[in-house]
Amino acid sequence: MIGISKPQISEEEINAVRDVLNSGNIVQGEKVREFENNFSSYCGIKHGVATSSGTSALEVALRALDIGKYDEVITTGFSFIATANCIMYTGATPVFADIDSRTFNIDSDKIEEKITEKTKAVIVVHLYGQPCEMGKIMAICKKHNLKLIEDACQAHGAEYKGRKTGSFGDISCFSFYATKNITTSEGGMCLTNEEDLHKKMKLLINHGMDQQYKHEILGYNYRMTDIQAAIGIEQLKKLNKFNEKRIKNAGFFNEKLRDIEWVSLPFVSPGCRHVFHQYTLRILNNKRDQFLKYLNENHIGARIYYPVPIFKQPVYKKLGYNIELSNTEKACEEVISIPVHPGLTKEDLEKISKKITEFKS
Ligand SMILES: *Cc1c(COP(=O)(O)O)cnc(C)c1O
Repeated sequence: MIGISKPQISEEEINAVRDVLNSGNIVQGEKVREFENNFSSYCGIKHGVATSSGTSALEVALRALDIGKYDEVITTGFSFIATANCIMYTGATPVFADIDSRTFNIDSDKIEEKITEKTKAVIVVHLYGQPCEMGKIMAICKKHNLKLIEDACQAHGAEYKGRKTGSFGDISCFSFYATKNITTSEGGMCLTNEEDLHKKMKLLINHGMDQQYKHEILGYNYRMTDIQAAIGIEQLKKLNKFNEKRIKNAGFFNEKLRDIEWVSLPFVSPGCRHVFHQYTLRILNNKRDQFLKYLNENHIGARIYYPVPIFKQPVYKKLGYNIELSNTEKACEEVISIPVHPGLTKEDLEKISKKITEFKS
């Protein structure tokens, strides 16, 4: 099977983990500090707080911004469920805005109509590695005095007008889960330029502990370990190379698939560096599920990200959500992602495009 993702782990990561294990300091220490510094500077941001996952990073971001009960947070329904769940954890209410059908990202023209006096923040998701329209979105947040959180869990190293995703929000959140553009196995990070938010997030991930056994605020154990950070430090050195390979693979598919009339190729926003966390097609002949089955039977690990809008998931339906957002629903019906990761060989790429071309539509 050609997998939809494949962690790129080699000697450097293995040696780095061995060194940490041999050192005896296997929980949070120097390696986490180093990874926080390296990753935040890579993104052009002053402070990084490593976390146990992308999900905990998102929750910590909202908590640090004092978002909770009676507040509303505007976001997209076309994402991994963690984007909305983190809002629920705080007691606040996710309010879903529709997506732009070309980029799959939140439509900046549909944000303002969702703003009420309860709205406190916007969480944008750079889905599949494609940056959102940050210029417009930042202007809206500024105009209405809303906090901006970037869910950059799929967009390590992506760029909007030459600036890295994760460098626009009051806080931005990354995941280093095994399938992401770089990994620490599980792990995440919050970035911010604001010193007070940085301090608060450091407390939040460590039981609000300022000095030993002096707990200032209600916190969590959301810490990353040095074992994970050691992997992250090595992965970060390779991030540009990994992303270049993803972009090259995407270019290969664009070339091979461009004449298939029932397929719509991924759009790349002008002025953006799309890092192809996923290479996602729209299938226009109503045979998406048949096509998925065909690819899987041919040992190509295609997947649907995401088959159901977050607000239509059983958990959200039970919470009383009963909304329709047409672009989100249509995307859920039409999208399919094919392997694009840096571990693909020339033969893999040839096989994938050949099988797609041969599909009897
Ligand atoms: C992966 C992901 C998350 C959650 O990250 P975890 O590390 O799995 O908790 C959140 N949002 C998006 C868009 C993601 O892709």
